Amino acid sequence: MITTHPFDDDKLREECGIFGVWGAADAAPLVALGLHALQHRGQEAAGITSWDGEHFHTHRAMGQVAGNFDRDETMRLLTGEAACGHVRYATTGETALRNVQPLYADLASGGFAVAHNGNISNAVTLKRELVRRGSIFQSTSDTEVIIHLVATSTYRTLLDKFIDALKQVEGAYSLICMTPEGMIACRDPLGIRPLVMGKLGDAIIFASETVALDVVGATYERAVEPGEIIIVSGRGMRSLKPFAPTHARPCIFEHVYFSRPDSIVDGSSVYSVRKAIGAQLAIESPVQADFVIPVPDSGTPAAIGYAQKSGIPFELGIIRSHYVGRTFIQPGDQVRHLGVKLKHNANRALIAGKKIILVDDSIVRGTTSLKIVQMMRDAGATEVHMRIASPPTEHSCFYGVNTPSRAKLLAANHDVAGMAAYIHADSLAFISIDGMYKALGEERRNDIRPQYCDACFTGDYPTRLTDQDDLAPEDQLSLLAERVV
Ligand code: SF4
Repeated sequence: MITTHPFDDDKLREECGIFGVWGAADAAPLVALGLHALQHRGQEAAGITSWDGEHFHTHRAMGQVAGNFDRDETMRLLTGEAACGHVRYATTGETALRNVQPLYADLASGGFAVAHNGNISNAVTLKRELVRRGSIFQSTSDTEVIIHLVATSTYRTLLDKFIDALKQVEGAYSLICMTPEGMIACRDPLGIRPLVMGKLGDAIIFASETVALDVVGATYERAVEPGEIIIVSGRGMRSLKPFAPTHARPCIFEHVYFSRPDSIVDGSSVYSVRKAIGAQLAIESPVQADFVIPVPDSGTPAAIGYAQKSGIPFELGIIRSHYVGRTFIQPGDQVRHLGVKLKHNANRALIAGKKIILVDDSIVRGTTSLKIVQMMRDAGATEVHMRIASPPTEHSCFYGVNTPSRAKLLAANHDVAGMAAYIHADSLAFISIDGMYKALGEERRNDIRPQYCDACFTGDYPTRLTDQDDLAPEDQLSLLAERVV
């Protein structure tokens, strides 16, 4: 089975999107719509939990939002004026239903449902200790660690237990939790993964991205701040900042690739930032050519920026079919290769005899870039120059993004000339790390206090990687399996 987007098989993948509604008559259908707008953040499974004032109701299933929540009988079960939901992308290991979120547990304080975007980088270490103390885990998701930490906390109130739990976890977490006492939304102290708040009439909405607010007709109020916990209940809204103040480092890759271009992330239009990255790339790495051509779809805004800055015409040299679905069965390698052409084809009449600049957002393994460059040559391009709207991806992400191991990252094993040779490009250039920061409105990267998490480019991780650093290699493998399923 191919994924939605053959060109995206060689991309880093955001693993989750979350959405929550408090105080709307039709909370669950709104959550379904919001999750649909976040589908790009995870396509393997989706779930919604609602609360009707007395009972929690959950529907979770493998598959996409449209297929899981298109039936009246399903939606009729999800009653109540509060609901939260989750889309997830599972990479390796088990994609079992028991890992599909929201996760739910009956605690001493009542029901507790949680939807999590991110990854807890000390989950295996914490889980071992919890299991030693008698906790019985129902899933292999790192998120369940939070539930057990809340359940076993010795603090008295649910909120204090929740804060106590979060103070023990490391890594990235944007959370939407539903309890009988209200909805709790929070972002880790570094704000690695995004979370925004909106309003729809009197209802409060939380979402991974602003595009999901747009889709349900909600107004964008503000980003949930790094380290902030917001509680909404029948008594109104409260904001707490219980963590020691620290220097925020949101994920820079949200701007480059993960977020939809029509979203606002950390106050910046994703589309505008991607265009600015393309323009900066044109300044840093000019080359003579007839056309600038985007690798669809994620390379498009950067290609527009590159073309506008360089004065070289922007053209569509790769045409995407919108009618190849994700359930298209591909039985063998030979046919799998044809899948790329089913979804994307070279615009031969445009390209033949021309020098072209291909613009893409990133190179991970390099396998797709190799195919695209070959596709352009087969269509008659005389020169193919590749420009990449991010620095070389040399390191793995441990914060809720699926990355191959370093051994499989092309940039971890080749210099730029070696990468160009591998993908058979006439030239290859990446935006510089300072150039990327410049496109985000910064003067340059502050090496003492970096403004963003950029660890997959620099290896400068903003948190301890306890499981990675402290566990034996065989346990780290199990960590990988546990963190992504
Ligand atoms: S390592 Fe890369 S993908 Fe992961 S959070 Fe940091 S910038 Fe984002």
